[in-house]
Amino acid sequence: MADNQLPPLRDVIARHELAAKKAFGQHFLLDLNLTAKIASFAGDMSRASVLEVGPGPGGLTRAILAAGAQHLTLVEKDARFIPALEELHTAYPDQLTITENDALRTDDAALLGPGERVILSNLPYNVGTQILIKWIQADPIWWRCAVLMFQREVAERIVAKVNTKAYGRLAVLSQSRCQCQLTLRVPAAAFTPPPKVESAIVVLEPLPPEACFDDIKALEIITASAFGQRRKTLRRSLGQAANHTNISSEELIERAGLDSKARAETIDIEGFQTLANVWRQARNQSSK
Ligand code: SAM
Repeated sequence: MADNQLPPLRDVIARHELAAKKAFGQHFLLDLNLTAKIASFAGDMSRASVLEVGPGPGGLTRAILAAGAQHLTLVEKDARFIPALEELHTAYPDQLTITENDALRTDDAALLGPGERVILSNLPYNVGTQILIKWIQADPIWWRCAVLMFQREVAERIVAKVNTKAYGRLAVLSQSRCQCQLTLRVPAAAFTPPPKVESAIVVLEPLPPEACFDDIKALEIITASAFGQRRKTLRRSLGQAANHTNISSEELIERAGLDSKARAETIDIEGFQTLANVWRQARNQSSK
């Protein structure tokens, strides 16, 4: 069965009684032009094993398959969608693996196997950032690119530059490991049912190994402390992180060559990486 002979998504949703559930962050994309455009951001997928988290009724899924992905693995938490997704097997018998699971728990690199790997997902709003952090924490990052839909406000926080309101923990963590680009804004009306806010696509590509910051755990502790109290000066906000070491927050900041009276949102990504390195050294010394 060719893709254009598949039943319309609205029919699939009606036949399987797939009413959207808020608890699962469900908002469906039914516009085939839009899903095709989203899939195109991943480039050539003809040699790629692709992961889609939260396929729902399968709108983006169809676009990924139609774009010629070599193989597509689906991870869906809501069991109601599995029978509808199984119907895609008829059109794409050898290209599709369907997994019912919670994407926060899966070992995605193992699920996809070796070779070129790509992630393409319209992520559930409630756990989208947690899933992103899981993928950027992987060491080394195992995917060639990730094309991800978030609430627009979250997408803007991922790509934010220093000295802006949106700049924070998510920008520092994401940009320390990846090149991040917001490629498309998507109005709420594009979804069924429409969410309260706009969405946007972010394309992430891992930085080359020499530029990819390695101690993401230390960076997480430093940024959680610094941005947890973003209105305070670094000297005060880094007190929590300094507790893990035998030096004061002031000493930590001085060793990193930064101004202790500065606020977190004025420290660039490199500054945070230096802080994370200094913090790690101080913590290692204190545990000797
Ligand atoms: N991809 C579909 C689309 O674009 O029309 C649906 C996207 S909807 C925003 C999010 C999807 O993620 C839903 O199908 C939901 O059931 C699923 N989901 C929610 N939490 C999940 C989790 N922890 N693991 C895997 N899937 C999850």
